[in-house]
Amino acid sequence: MVQQSNKFIVTVATSLAVPKLLDYAVEGFLSPVLGQFVEIEVGTKQVQGIVVHMQEATAYKGDVAKLKKANLITNVYPLKEPSLKFLRFSARYTFALPGDPVRASLIAGHIPEKVMPDEVLVLTGDMPDKLTTAREKVVEVLQKGGQFTSQTALAEAAGVGASVVKGLLDKKVLSWQEVLETAPKINIHLPDLNPSQAHAAAQVASILKQQKHQTYFLDGVMGSGKTEVYFDSIARLLEEDDTSQVLLLVPEISLTPQLVSRFENRFGFVPTLWHSNLGEKARKRNWWQVAEGSARVIIGARSALFLNYQNLKLIVVDEEHDGSYKQEEVFRYNGRDMAVTLGHFWQCPVMLCSATPSLETWNNVLSGRYKHLMLEGRYGDATLPDLKLIDMKQEKVGKGDKWVSAPAVKAIEKRLERGEQSLVFLNRRGVAPLLICGGCGTRVGCPSCDASLVVHKSYLICHHCGFHEPIPNKCPKCDSEKLRAFGPGTRKIQQELTSYFPNARIAVADSDNVKTDRQMGEVVTKMENGEIDILVGTQMVAKGHHFPELTFVSIIDGDMGLARGELRAAEKTFQILMQVAGRAGRAAKKGEVMIQTHDPKHPLFECLLTMNRDQFLKMELQSRKLWKDPPFNKQMALIISGKDERSVAFASKTLANSFQADDAELLGPAPAPMAKLRDKYRYRLLVKSQNKLHEKVQKWLSETKVPSSVRVVVDVDPVSFY
Ligand code: ADP
Ligand code: ZN
Ligand code: ZN
Repeated sequence: MVQQSNKFIVTVATSLAVPKLLDYAVEGFLSPVLGQFVEIEVGTKQVQGIVVHMQEATAYKGDVAKLKKANLITNVYPLKEPSLKFLRFSARYTFALPGDPVRASLIAGHIPEKVMPDEVLVLTGDMPDKLTTAREKVVEVLQKGGQFTSQTALAEAAGVGASVVKGLLDKKVLSWQEVLETAPKINIHLPDLNPSQAHAAAQVASILKQQKHQTYFLDGVMGSGKTEVYFDSIARLLEEDDTSQVLLLVPEISLTPQLVSRFENRFGFVPTLWHSNLGEKARKRNWWQVAEGSARVIIGARSALFLNYQNLKLIVVDEEHDGSYKQEEVFRYNGRDMAVTLGHFWQCPVMLCSATPSLETWNNVLSGRYKHLMLEGRYGDATLPDLKLIDMKQEKVGKGDKWVSAPAVKAIEKRLERGEQSLVFLNRRGVAPLLICGGCGTRVGCPSCDASLVVHKSYLICHHCGFHEPIPNKCPKCDSEKLRAFGPGTRKIQQELTSYFPNARIAVADSDNVKTDRQMGEVVTKMENGEIDILVGTQMVAKGHHFPELTFVSIIDGDMGLARGELRAAEKTFQILMQVAGRAGRAAKKGEVMIQTHDPKHPLFECLLTMNRDQFLKMELQSRKLWKDPPFNKQMALIISGKDERSVAFASKTLANSFQADDAELLGPAPAPMAKLRDKYRYRLLVKSQNKLHEKVQKWLSETKVPSSVRVVVDVDPVSFY
């Protein structure tokens, strides 16, 4: 007779988009454990899920007989308790479905199958009777230590036809051999740290020893050695034992071969990578390496937070201010904030690194929640560039085909003569353009918000309150008719430069023509080899690389997005301008930077010219405080969408009308800047409060009925307002 007490009821979070946790029965000899992966049936679908709660069947309140059975999956380690808590927390915090983080922790909703070890072609030691030149080439390539997983790859490398390789296989000169996966051989070479680096590293080391949670902000200009400091922490962990794991989060775009090879040079082994460009096989293999604990250092994009760590001891978030840590669809979480939470659950230190911190992080530093680790200056003798502002109105640029000012043209000319390189940078961020008056320089603003209005087809819209009006013919201030939506493009700039410098080698790097790491790598190589004179680029060229011959940077649209058109516009502009300015003259040659702007009197530029970051942060925090904006206030955006515009608008109104809270504010509804997306109309609401906003929104949403044809999505701590 089967004992009742052998039966368990498990509550499962599935990878499906279902709004609830589901109960299943587990029978058999094995008892389930929390965090265990299970196989279940939902409707008619077989899916996998994770046990988030369990009890004995006798304690179950519902009808046990009605439950379907769950099968325990025993070949994967269950999620460890900290990761399980993190999984639950991240869904709750972001108003996501309970299964959203489960999906993030699997591959296409499933535990991947184990991949077979790679097979490579090796020499057997036998020599062919006839050693033709072609055959000789193949043998040579292999003798030099080349590793090839396919016949065509080997043939290509040897510069011979595929039949040659096949022939050698047939003759048993070549054979296939499995590459054995061995634990990484760690071989650490770190430089001696300078005093401020050593001081920072020692502080983290003491917390590492105590196995406590503490968040650090590792602060220092580009080149001050932040990477060397966290490498030091990683090295200590690797030396300490054989199981501790480190997660190094980077913005997806900076997950480059340069970073990986720098790591390899320092540590003697290849780190485990996790990002969206991984091939299918590598992705599966890396998933298992993390879950089995053999991956010691994981370098990944934000989704690496959800891997099945066995013994996580340190989390590093590089370039913590980077907007790409925020996932903007389906499961809307902020990777930086979630990294801090993950570190809290694992009781391990978290190091946030940046030269230009987010206001959120800086505020946490000022309040003492995060510990500040400050590195002094740049490493080596690179000097800061000369910065100059160019008044676009005075220089008569910023309209039609003319965007590059005369001083910038002259500066580029000088570089061409000296054989040095120039970068022409566009800060275009995909935000809808503002309307600017060519007569007086005014941006057309909202009458009730002190925010810039944003051009949207034939309307101007306020992203804050929803005010809108048809685009006016005349400037409200000076009556000039020279109103225009502000926004240049890389093509336009390239054409303009070609007209000035028909013989210069001009390259463009924007999201249209540089889509992959490899393409970015090609641009970088060309820059390094001096095959490009002028690089026209957007955000992607702002970070990471080091070009000794790049001595001039022209920023075409320095004020795009300034003024309260968007909450983080000033912050983002400042960060990007600091970064781009840092591009020029990182080596021994002094660089020069020109920033074109309509608004040279904006206080932000004062801070920038003097490279006074702390002053900027102080001013921006004051303004946020004044406007009750984050980090002093919590914000959540509601995105209401559906196929029928009228019901979307109506549902938005209904939601807005039913919002009741004394110490909270609601803005909207307003059509979203991206008012129609994938055939769905979109409206937005924004709620703000200093107090328990999660509870308020939870209650509000559960009490307000919207038709099922309308979808309501919450974006907690919104970053972009599209
Ligand atoms: P950051 O991460 O702050 O931009 P990096 O760690 O990349 O700075 O350092 C910039 C350069 O200076 C790198 O080439 C790095 O190897 C070198 N560097 C930094 N600190 C040291 C040190 N203590 N000894 C030797 N080289 C260093
Ligand atoms: Zn005007
Ligand atoms: Zn407004």
